[in-house]
Amino acid sequence: MEPVALLTAIALVPQPAKLVETGGAAPASAEVRYVEDASVPAEGYRLSVAEDGVTVASSDAAGRFYAGVTLEQLARPDGSRPCVEIEDAPAFGWRGMHLDVSRHFFTADEVKRFLDLMAAHKLNRFHWHLVDSQGWRLDVPSHPELAAASAEKRGRAIEGRPDENRGEDFAGPFYYTEAQVKDVVAYAAARHIEIVPEIEMPGHFGSVLAAHPEFACTDADGKRTGWNELCVGNDAAIACLEDVLDDVCRLFPYGVVHIGGDECSRNRWRECPKCQARIRAEGLADEDALQTWLSARMVRFLEARGKRAIGWDEYLLGDGISTNAIGMRWRGAGGAGGGPSNFVSAASLAAAGHDLVMANSRWVYFDYPQGLPDDPYVYTFDKQKPLDLCYRFDPLLGIPPELHHRVLGGEGCNWTERTAMPAVLEWKLWPRGCALAECLWCGPARKPPYEDFLRRLEVHRARLVEKGVNAAPLPPPQP
Ligand SMILES: [Zn+2]
Repeated sequence: MEPVALLTAIALVPQPAKLVETGGAAPASAEVRYVEDASVPAEGYRLSVAEDGVTVASSDAAGRFYAGVTLEQLARPDGSRPCVEIEDAPAFGWRGMHLDVSRHFFTADEVKRFLDLMAAHKLNRFHWHLVDSQGWRLDVPSHPELAAASAEKRGRAIEGRPDENRGEDFAGPFYYTEAQVKDVVAYAAARHIEIVPEIEMPGHFGSVLAAHPEFACTDADGKRTGWNELCVGNDAAIACLEDVLDDVCRLFPYGVVHIGGDECSRNRWRECPKCQARIRAEGLADEDALQTWLSARMVRFLEARGKRAIGWDEYLLGDGISTNAIGMRWRGAGGAGGGPSNFVSAASLAAAGHDLVMANSRWVYFDYPQGLPDDPYVYTFDKQKPLDLCYRFDPLLGIPPELHHRVLGGEGCNWTERTAMPAVLEWKLWPRGCALAECLWCGPARKPPYEDFLRRLEVHRARLVEKGVNAAPLPPPQP
């Protein structure tokens, strides 16, 4: 497309549910009139751009905000907008983006820019992966020793890639203060984004163990054996986590708290006297049931504070966990079974009454390479996840139709083992994040064909670059 055509074409991402071009244009000076209309669905809007003015109808503030996002995308360089009639509403209520700030730390200002780009794509859940073995990034008033012990480093240097590491002028502390969290919460709220803070347990637990080596499992002689997992038999460790969750509930004024739960090895628990004592005292069958016991306890703890728990899918393995708890699917597709012993299919979780959020590594993990020739950056993994694969993401895949209502939506994940710089993060995420946003806003029933998306994306990517986003190029045309 010619540059002028690029800048004047109607190219909305995500594509609205209904869009009719009515001819002519509204000048930049056109007045925007807002009306309340209870018949417009939640987060939806009706937008009329006419030569004599712009009218936005919505039933809530989010719908009004998203009409504004659409108006911004409609604006031509001179500020005028083509006349259109649009009716729009999202298919899924949970349209999320995750950011791992543990492997590499990103400042509060960088997080705000991340939120700006989410909002520009009508994404509304920011999953803030605040802690992992590599770093504890939240200053919690009840346990300041956690950030003090585990946020000294901004992340491990990416070997052999000096240009992909932070300069020496990027100084710590590499955690968020309470004041910064409040600031980010307010910033997100203004963009209709809810934050889902994550406190990982019982695996990926090394940053807590750095402050509290006594929370690790031991062998029968008392020698430390655990380096990455919580000793579930340790009452003081569980009390510490509950203090932390109390602080998190207070710091984040939202309904959902993420409690991790993935990739926890049971090997250390098997030989640890404290964990085995817990298994006996609680009448548990085995180490799998020990994780179930912990999940159930933390889910109840959050419920008592008016919050719902969410966690990576295996935290819901086993019986007796409140169905109020939400599963976040990170492996495979919805119905896929098999795999490791701690695998539970998303379809079976939905059948048991749990709501689900799909964040499948197969489609929407952006720490995989994107199939570009001469990509200048390094990725954690080798397997390619190109743009067209991301665009095939379907949160309902593998879930029986009668359980579709259990799927709240989905989100993409930005793990940062090999992403230290904001510019590199942007390259890996955009425009693949545009594909995710369209999958979640449109849903599988009305998602346009990939070629249609690509045509709009050519314009939209130019818009991102104009904003200073280090967006990756579109993939080369297929022969
Ligand atoms: Zn133990």
